[in-house]
Amino acid sequence: MRIVVLTKPVPDPAAGQERLTAEGRVDRAGSPAVVNGNDEYALEAALKLVEASPDGGEVTLLAMAPSNAPETLRKALAMGAHRGVLVTDPALEGSDTLSTARVLAAALREMEYDLVLAGADTSDGGGGVVAAGIAAILGLPYLSYAARIEPAEGRVRVRRLSATGFDVIEAPMPALVVATQGARSKEITTRALSDLDVDGATPGGAAATAKVTGSRKPEQRGATKVVRVPAPEAAKAVVDFLAQRRII
Ligand SMILES: Cc1cc2nc3c(=O)[nH]c(=O)nc-3n(C[C@H](O)[C@H](O)[C@H](O)COP(=O)(O)OP(=O)(O)OC[C@H]3O[C@@H](n4cnc5c(N)ncnc54)[C@H](O)[C@@H]3O)c2cc1C
Repeated sequence: MRIVVLTKPVPDPAAGQERLTAEGRVDRAGSPAVVNGNDEYALEAALKLVEASPDGGEVTLLAMAPSNAPETLRKALAMGAHRGVLVTDPALEGSDTLSTARVLAAALREMEYDLVLAGADTSDGGGGVVAAGIAAILGLPYLSYAARIEPAEGRVRVRRLSATGFDVIEAPMPALVVATQGARSKEITTRALSDLDVDGATPGGAAATAKVTGSRKPEQRGATKVVRVPAPEAAKAVVDFLAQRRII
């Protein structure tokens, strides 16, 4: 199973209010970035599908973002994605949802996949339309708001959240699926101390055998000495400097 996950780097919502440029756009250079939360759900769902697939498979991240995005995408790779594709070009700056859909669709034409997974919307732009635009441009079946994704024998079936419960819809692959939080469902099991075979008196602060006795900031560093002379003299100056301090 080959899955491409659309992953947009967005300003970290936990870092407080987004800074805006004079033109009223998000100041991306001045805001710490993270992977869009809804795209993380899609990534988790993709990893789960590949893990469950008898033939295994690969998860590829696809992002259209400024050139500093690799830093942000590394976190998504650490979650288990196999590779990332970043479309970046200064000429893309200011792209709206339609041009973003066109560019991502063009990138997908160059890739091989059974499924494309996307988030429902982003925490910055929040248009919620890029995925549908890509599906329309590429002529892919579009299955939105999936709370469960079940691929089998060339088809994909999803449970789509509806006002009254779930709609079950099915389409041939390749297809584009918008995953919701429900689709990730990698299990986290919770255990209390009483569930484990540990003497209750041995862990925790009261039983700790190490304690913090104090802390202080490191000394201020002295002024930096810069050597700006031809290389042979510079080498001698560096050696003398280190020798005076008995470092060599
Ligand atoms: C140089 C550069 C500068 C940019 N500057 C900005 C900016 O200032 N503000 C801004 O909002 N956007 C910026 N973008 C990205 C792009 O313009 C937006 O992604 C686009 O407008 C999407 O709108 P949205 O957030 O409403 O998407 P939505 O329709 O809400 O997105 C739905 C889903 O589509 C997928 N998706 C959306 N956008 C992308 C993407 N770029 N890459 C991968 N998957 C995606 C995700 O899975 C997402 O959950 C920039 C891109 C580049 C290359």
